This record gives sequence, C-alpha cells and structure tokens, in this order.
Amino acid sequence: MEEGARSCLLRFRHRLEQDIKPSYLMDHMISDGVINVDEEERIRTQPTRKDQAVALLELLLRKDNRAYISFYNALVKETYDDLANLLYDDLPQISANAHKSSSDGWTPHVQMVLSEGGVPQRPVVFVSRPELLNRVRERLYRLQKEPGWVTVFGMAGSGKSVLAAEAVRHQGIIEECFPGGVHWLSIGQLDKPDLLVKIQSLCFRLEQSLDSQSLHRPPNSLDEAKERLRFLMLRRYPRSLLILDDIWDSTVLKVFDIQCRILLTTRNRSLTDSVSGAKYEVEVASGLDENKGLEILALYTKTNPQGLPEEARSIVRECKGSPLVVSLIGALLKEKPNRWRYYLCQLQQKQFKRIRKSSSYDYDALDQAMAASIEVLPDEHQELYKDLTVLEKDIKIPAKVLSILWDLEPEEVEDILEEFVNKSLLFVDSHNKPYLYYLHDLQLDFLVEQNRTQDLHTKVVRQYQQHYRDDPPTSGDEECLYWIRFLTYHMARANLSQELYSLMFSLDWVSIKAQIMGPAHLINDYVEYGPILDKEVMRSQFQEFLSLNGHQLEQRPFPDVVQLALSQPPTSEVYRQALLQAQDRASKG
Ligand code: ADP
Repeated sequence: MEEGARSCLLRFRHRLEQDIKPSYLMDHMISDGVINVDEEERIRTQPTRKDQAVALLELLLRKDNRAYISFYNALVKETYDDLANLLYDDLPQISANAHKSSSDGWTPHVQMVLSEGGVPQRPVVFVSRPELLNRVRERLYRLQKEPGWVTVFGMAGSGKSVLAAEAVRHQGIIEECFPGGVHWLSIGQLDKPDLLVKIQSLCFRLEQSLDSQSLHRPPNSLDEAKERLRFLMLRRYPRSLLILDDIWDSTVLKVFDIQCRILLTTRNRSLTDSVSGAKYEVEVASGLDENKGLEILALYTKTNPQGLPEEARSIVRECKGSPLVVSLIGALLKEKPNRWRYYLCQLQQKQFKRIRKSSSYDYDALDQAMAASIEVLPDEHQELYKDLTVLEKDIKIPAKVLSILWDLEPEEVEDILEEFVNKSLLFVDSHNKPYLYYLHDLQLDFLVEQNRTQDLHTKVVRQYQQHYRDDPPTSGDEECLYWIRFLTYHMARANLSQELYSLMFSLDWVSIKAQIMGPAHLINDYVEYGPILDKEVMRSQFQEFLSLNGHQLEQRPFPDVVQLALSQPPTSEVYRQALLQAQDRASKG
C-alpha cells in the first residue's frame, strides 16, 4: 500500500476501530476480491465488534492499494460518510496514470516494493550506467521462469551495490519477474553467529509482513534457518528475489542454496561454483568511464560537463574512475568550486603508502581523496570522524550510539553526520527509522591504517560506562542492540580484560544478551574472547550453561534465567550467582 494511504489508516485507526461494523464492510471487500473467506472467517470469530474492527484494520494495513480503495468504497456504501471523508484525500490512484512509469521505469508501486524490501536509495549524486544496468536486468529476466543466481562482481568501490539496487528499480523487473517482492540483505564479512542473526531477522521480517500474529521461535542453528527460509521462499514468497550484498565467503552462499532467486554482489567471481542451479554473471569494470566520472563532478558542482575546467579530466583519471573516490572529490569541489587545481595536486601526491597493498585495489587515489575530505572538516569534527575507526565492517549504527560516544546532544550529532554524508565520508540508510549510518569498507580500511585503535576503543567503553553507569540498556531498540552486541568487542580491542571479565562472567549480562540476541552470540563471545579472559574453568561453566539451556533461552516469553541457573552444579560460578540473586529476591519478598 502506498505510504500516504497507510499513514492515513494509521492516523485514523482509532476512529475507525470505534465506529465500523466489520461484517458489513467485509462483504463488499470479498466481492471486490481484496480479502478472502479465510481472512474474513478469522476476523468474524473475534469475540467483540471492537476486536473485529482491530483485526480488520490490522489486515488492511498489510494489503495493497486496491484493498484501501475497496475499504473506502465499502464505507461509502454502508453510509459511513464521515469516515469515508477521512480516507478520501489519500485514495491511491490506480488509474493508468498512477501505474504509468516515470521516464526511467519506476512507479509508486515499485518504490514501495523496494522500500519494504530494504533496497538502498540512490546516492545523493547518481549517474546511470545504462550498458551495465541492461546487462544485469537481462540476467534478472532469465530468473523469471526458474530459480537461479545472478552474480555482480568487481573491485571494492566499483559501484556494485548501487548497480544492484538500480537494477531492480524497474517496473518490468518487479512486476514481471519478481511479483513476490525483493528483499535486500547486507552481508559483508561475518562469522556464523552473525550470519544466523541476519537470517533470523530476515525470517522475522518475512513472517511479519505475512501475519503479524505469528510468533515463531527464531531458528537457532544455520541448518534450521536454512530450512525456515526454504519454506518461506517456496511457499509464502514464490517468485521473489533475494539480494545478497557483498558476499565474501561461499559458506554463506550455501545457506541460501535453497532453489530461490538470488542477485549477489561480490569481489570474488567464483563464489557460486559451490552452489547448484542456473548461474549468470556480470562484471563491473573497476572504474566509471571518463564521461561518467565527469558527469559526477558536473552534478556536484552544478555545471554542465562541457563547462568543466581542464583539470576535471585529470582528476577523473587520477581517481581511476572509482565512483567512490570521484564522489569524495566532487563533494569537496561543491564546497570550494575554485580548488580544481589544488585537489588535482593532492591526488597526485603519493604520501600515503600502504604497507599491505591489496592485490585487487589501488588505494592511492582513495587515500588522497579521504585525506583531503577529512582535512576540510573543522578540527573538532576531524577528531569525531576518527572515532568511527572503531566500527566493525558492514555494521550500521544509529546516531544515538555516537551521541554517547561523543557526549553530544542527538540533534547535534545528526547535524555532524549530515555533514559527513554530504562529503561522501559516510553513508546513510534512511529506510530505517532511526536512520542508520555506515562507512564503505575502503573508508574503514583507510581509518584503521591511519589511527591507533586501542585508545579509541577504550574511549568507547569509557563513554558507555559513564552513560549507563546505573542502568544498562535493555530495551531492544537499535541503540541498545548495538551495545549489547558490540560492547564485548570494544572491550577486547581496548585490551580491557578486567572489564571484559566482569561483563562476561555476570549472569545479569548473560541474561540480557541472551534475551535480546539469543544464546548463539553469547557462546561465540566466549569462544572468541576466551583466550583474553584466560579463565578456562569459569568460561566452560558459562558456555556449558548456555549450551545446555540454548533451547529454553530461545523461548518467548523469556524464561527465568536465575531458575535455570540454579540447576547447574553447585560448584559452578553460574550457580553461585543465581543463588545470590535468589536469596536477594527472597529477602525482598
Ligand atoms: P561496491 O559495492 O562495489 O563496493 P558501491 O556500490 O557501494 O561499491 O559504491 C561506492 C560508492 O561509489 C557509493 O557509495 C557512491 O558514493 C559511489 N557510486 C557508486 N555508483 C555510483 C553511480 N552510479 N553514481 C554515482 N555514484 C556512485
């Protein structure tokens, strides 16, 4: 359903729930074919009129534009004129007009499908690469009739993700090939527990949009996750497309080897060798061709490409056509349009010699461009940008986490982040509310090479401790998720073994993290940081507790961890802490 229509229903939801008689309305909606008899039955069996109305609105919110219109018409027919008037202004246009494509082939419907599937928007300045795009779309059309894989491969920063998102921004692709929708998943370099968490949240997302009542337990192993996904894709989302962005490892692909339709981006061409089904590929050249590079510079500086100064061509060449690097320079020139020669000279200096050169990427241009972009930030913002060195690759964070790290008001943080985004020093996922921010891998590599990370990680931990002195975060929102997931990582990198020790051997922490992230993540922490903790016995006690109770800890409502821990051997630290807590509870009555 279009955003306007959905928002209107949400705004007037309570008024509608108060007044409507669902049974009358549903008769009309069935004859329009927008709800079926099973759905009607489910609503009709709710005990009261109000419950039925709540359920009908819940159902309606998951439906498309046609359902909204049918509901509106039903209100008119049943003479709820005042309610119908509330909905009138946001009636979606189903006429030929509304479905007609804009010049490059996308409609409000396509936009909505992409937004629901989490497909990233175009970068602020965008140039089309029609030949490449057609090649990807042509491969996608081959998935119309049968499942299979389309691999988009090329070097880091060559524009693969932007291309993949653009390929599906197309009415024909969405309506003819993937009427079941598209679902974007950023993968990156990750280990098994992280992969499990990703697939858990994908399954959750898919199940939610089908039926918000569903309360499936999240799959608790990769095998189980694969089966759940196979079922969902085959039965509930036939003819949909999964987009897996930035895959490094073929073991990840094996989890998705479930006879569905997949578009993936990767630096490694041969990844799909190990999976079955039809396979197609498109290579993305490392750089934009010269004219496209110039077009980016022209867009940033609001000139036409013919009017660009002579240095422009040399700049694009120095950037080796890398869209990421050209964008960084473009953003600089937008602010200082008379510095063409200066930035060209900066790019030509080769002061940043990396020790480890990646075989597949020439970092020089990127390093110079990053350095130049950072240099024009006010000094205090340069320091703040440096703090981003501590992020893990491919992790997106909300502004609130940085507001704790920087000890600034969230609004101020948002302004600073906007400045970074405008300079292409940072990217934003604005589908998500709150917005999530992330660096490109190559930018993070640059920061890690430039900065001493241990002190920066220490700062993260200290800021966390100061902010959450009395009350650790437990709410499950994006910010809280970040801390629960990464606090141990920051402590380990900061070499704060004492802090890490107290945290990981605390039953309270175990309980919070298990509740919010599931036990797999915790077990992984013990495996990964065990060598730093150097307390074999205690570590095995905690690990054993989690392994034995893994199944219980997956259940919702969440079990009483103290009770579970009391069945551990009395010599175990887990038992000791549980006993203290039980005694404390008893004394408080
Ligand atoms: P990859 O996935 O190959 O690592 P991305 O697709 O993430 O690369 O692109 C890196 C950056 O390059 C983007 O964030 C954007 O700033 C810029 N970029 C990529 N493609 C384009 C394009 N077609 N037009 C403008 N900028 C682009």
